Formats: sequence, C-alpha cells, structure tokens
Amino acid sequence: MNEEKPHILLVEDEIHLARGICFNLELEGYRVSHMETGEEALQRLAYDRFSLIILDIMLPGIDGFAVCKKIREFDMRVPILILSARSEEGDRITGLSAGADDYLMKPFNLNEFLLRVQGMLKRSAWYRPEPIEESYRFGESEVYLLSYHAKTPQGEIDLTELEVKMLSFFFRNEGKAVSRADLLETVWGYSSDTETRTLDNFIVRLRRYFEPDPSHPVHFQTVRGIGYRFVREQKRKQDENQDVGESP
Ligand code: CA
Repeated sequence: MNEEKPHILLVEDEIHLARGICFNLELEGYRVSHMETGEEALQRLAYDRFSLIILDIMLPGIDGFAVCKKIREFDMRVPILILSARSEEGDRITGLSAGADDYLMKPFNLNEFLLRVQGMLKRSAWYRPEPIEESYRFGESEVYLLSYHAKTPQGEIDLTELEVKMLSFFFRNEGKAVSRADLLETVWGYSSDTETRTLDNFIVRLRRYFEPDPSHPVHFQTVRGIGYRFVREQKRKQDENQDVGESP
C-alpha cells in the first residue's frame, strides 16, 4: 500500500532526549518535527496538521497541559501523548482532563514508548479512515488547506504557504477582530513594529480571490484601528432585526 508516512510533532525542551526520540521514531519510518516550546508548537499547528502530537509537560514558557488545552480548542481529533517527569497520579489526571489521549512517565522504556505511539496512530486511523480532506466553505468559496487549493468566485486557484497560514488563522478566529500585530506574528513571525504594508497587500490579494466584489468586502473586513475580521456568511442588513438567532 502506498500510504504517506505519519507525521509526528514532538514538543520537548530536553535536546538530548528529543534527539533520541526523533532518531527512534524516524527509524520506525515516521516523519518527525521537533519544537522546543509550546509557543512554537502552537504556531506551527496554526497551519500544519500532524498524525500525533507528543507533548512534554515541563516546558519553558507555557506548560504542556496548557498547550494540550489550546490544541483541543481547535482540534479535537489529533491524538496527544503526554510525557511527564513528574510521578504523581495527579499529573496523569490533569493531563487526561486537559484533553490528552495517553500519558507516559519519564524515564520510559523505548519499546513501550514505540508501542504506545504505534497503538495511538492505529487507533486514530480507525476513528478516521478518511484520506479525504475536509474543506472549509464560506460564501461562494471552498478552501482546501492541506492541498493548498481553493475554489473561488474567480475560479480554482492554488494557494501559497503564507496564504494558507493566513487563511487558517482567520478560520480559527472566525467572527473575531484580529489585530494587525497578531496576524503579523502568527503568519510572518514578525513583531508588531515591523513594516506592515505586506499585510495590507495580502488582504487585498485575499479579497481579490474570495470576495464577489473585492471593493466591498464581506468576508475579509477591515476593523478600523485594530486590524481585520473574517466573517463566514454575509449578513444582510434587512435581516438583522427580524432574525431569531444566529445560525452556525
Ligand atoms: Ca521538559
């Protein structure tokens, strides 16, 4: 069978241990990306998907529990394995209630670790046998983030990596005003004092792709003094008063 290698995200700040884990997972035929902090991992997860996330608890910056909770806010399905040097039973409970699927205590036996990983990947494959990609629909458009492709009012287009990053950030923050600083930081990794013309040009581009009328944007709106807001459905002015409730 011609299956794609499972892609695993490892979040671990102990370099020596991380190298060992990466080495052994790669020997097993997996692809591994390694991040040293939870912040980096969350940034990466804003635009990339993984088959499994292996998450250390004690990290510099936000800890593994918090990272796990954040991941679950936007992805309920990716399997998460927590690694912890702490031995209390309480940690196990905290980890599982933060949304982790499994828990392994350090130091662990390599074979047990690999079996655990294999088991989690297999289980998640049963739960979602789909190699079919979900699309994100709004207005007259349909976006396929994983294959960098979209159907738009202007026709079918291919998306660049930055466009995909930006769209996935907007989709996750649907309906909310997002600041220019947040957008720059998430998509480009810039700090807020950097030249921001790039961002505006990008928005112009997204409007040209996805707006039925780019000069009167309904999906990628400007929020004066703040930044931008992505709105999935156009709300007609005359409907606003008589509408009973919000539809999802
Ligand atoms: Ca650690």
